[in-house]
Amino acid sequence: MRYSEMHLPTGREIPSDAEVVSNQLMIRAGMIRKLTSGIYSYLPLGYRVIRKVERIVREEMNKAGAQEVHLPMVQPAELWQESGRWTYYGKELLRFRDRNDRDYCLGPTHEEVITDLVRHDIKTYRQLPRNLYQIQTKFRDEVRPRFGVMRCREFGMKDAYSFDADEAGAEKSYEKMFAAYNAIFRRCGLRFRPVEADSGSIGGSFSHEFMVLAESGEDAIAFCEKCNYAANLEKAEIARPEKAAPIASDRPALESVETPNVRTIEEVSAFLNVTPRQIVKTLIFNADGKACAVLIRGDHEVNEIKVKNILGAAELELADDEMIFKATGAPRGFAGPVGVKVRVIADYSILDLVDMVTGANREDYHLKNVNLGRDFTVESFADLRVVQPGDACPRCGGEIKFARGIEVGHVFKLGTKYSKAMKAVYLDRDGKEKTMIMGCYGIGIGRTVAACIEQNFDQNGIIWPMPLAPYAVIVTPVNINEPDVMKAAGEIYEELLAADVEVILDDRDERAGVKFKDADLIGIPLRIVVGSKNLAQGQVELKIRKTGDSRLYPKSDIVSEVRTIIAQELKTAG
Ligand code: ATP
Ligand code: MG
Repeated sequence: MRYSEMHLPTGREIPSDAEVVSNQLMIRAGMIRKLTSGIYSYLPLGYRVIRKVERIVREEMNKAGAQEVHLPMVQPAELWQESGRWTYYGKELLRFRDRNDRDYCLGPTHEEVITDLVRHDIKTYRQLPRNLYQIQTKFRDEVRPRFGVMRCREFGMKDAYSFDADEAGAEKSYEKMFAAYNAIFRRCGLRFRPVEADSGSIGGSFSHEFMVLAESGEDAIAFCEKCNYAANLEKAEIARPEKAAPIASDRPALESVETPNVRTIEEVSAFLNVTPRQIVKTLIFNADGKACAVLIRGDHEVNEIKVKNILGAAELELADDEMIFKATGAPRGFAGPVGVKVRVIADYSILDLVDMVTGANREDYHLKNVNLGRDFTVESFADLRVVQPGDACPRCGGEIKFARGIEVGHVFKLGTKYSKAMKAVYLDRDGKEKTMIMGCYGIGIGRTVAACIEQNFDQNGIIWPMPLAPYAVIVTPVNINEPDVMKAAGEIYEELLAADVEVILDDRDERAGVKFKDADLIGIPLRIVVGSKNLAQGQVELKIRKTGDSRLYPKSDIVSEVRTIIAQELKTAG
């Protein structure tokens, strides 16, 4: 394409409302434009990159045996009422009415629609398994749209749904998608890591998030340095300690101390001159309407997802003042395990504590020298806290470290959540009716593009890895008013086009510096500079965006050289 004809409005100014590099660069490179909060238009350059990601996704999904469909974006409320999500989904679901006063929503995801489709079309085990996918626009009315297309309201997603006859089949489908996702992100040229995520009631490791590693990522990842264990913070497990402290009979006697208005761990620690490690927090939770006390060491954070899973609760929240008072006989801030009137569960880290400090279940009082077994008992010990850097890896005992990442994809075993609610059943071999087992698998297309930029940029602009580059090459004649230069540049351009290389000819009547700045900003991997001095020797310059290296080549060799580099870079990413 000739630059002079391209709709490529680049800019030097950093947009004031763009917080992250990828958003700044996508705007400056003329890839996207904001229409309104969380809603963006893709311009030609941006859309080319989107199409590259989509193409890789399609190829790998097809290879994995999934078939492409295209489902409606407008979805009737009835389906969502059937699955139970019409009320449960909350404000992210954009609802509206048609002229006949019927309720609809814009699809934030498509489990309901696909389950409805499949339950009508699939009758017997012979039609299973099936994996159907689409690349479609989703709408989620995010509370805080931010970071440009990374967390927006209208966005393109690849979503796939698998349907299987039994557990073994569902696991196979999951593994196929897991492998396909690895292939997709590898082919995109990204540095990424699949991490275990919470799968709620399904258990096991049947949910993985694919994280692109980047400092600016919204998510924290816990990973082991020694083995390949990696999980998000909701999921990251902590192993049960091997040794617990012996129940001490010779510990100092329990002591009640007055602690007026001292409630938080910091306040208790300062007031009683003990380390937070010595203090045990007693959190009263409301689990499906029932109170439960959860004990956590003062320097740890409770992980509510783990608590919810251990209790098998559908709904879990911190108890209100009334529930706390009923459970402890005291206002908020003084709960403790000694004499509490509800079931008590504790994090593993409580096992080896002695002479703890806890709330006294009495306003303005705490207890000292509290000892497990002697002063209170615990119904069960479990892993209930958030992992910290330096914890031991649950798989190999190595050291846990933290990194930041951007979630670009998610694979999830759904089990029968939707198929049961919506009666997606089939007749098995033995003529019995059975419920299908589902999986769902999403990739954010725009977010993948933004994440790629977060990993590949410098102070001059984007540095596209070859597989996602909107164009592989830009041919830059230094001065278009020199006929020899323009002729040579034109010839190279035509030759590259003929060889199916995606190429821009920067035929603008601009200073070379301006052209170089734009080429760097939009991140084209290879730049061929045609100038009169080198051309007089029959040579042109090839500059590599990623390394900044430049070399002279005979004009006659440049096309084959460029083709070799492109082929190599696509291969290493593949
Ligand atoms: P997040 O935790 O980031 O909100 P999610 O768990 O809601 O993500 P899924 O429902 O699993 O995301 O959606 C699948 C994929 O769609 C995500 O992995 C992500 O790449 C993309 N995605 C989700 N929400 C957005 C958004 N608001 N803007 C752009 N992409 C998104
Ligand atoms: Mg979300």
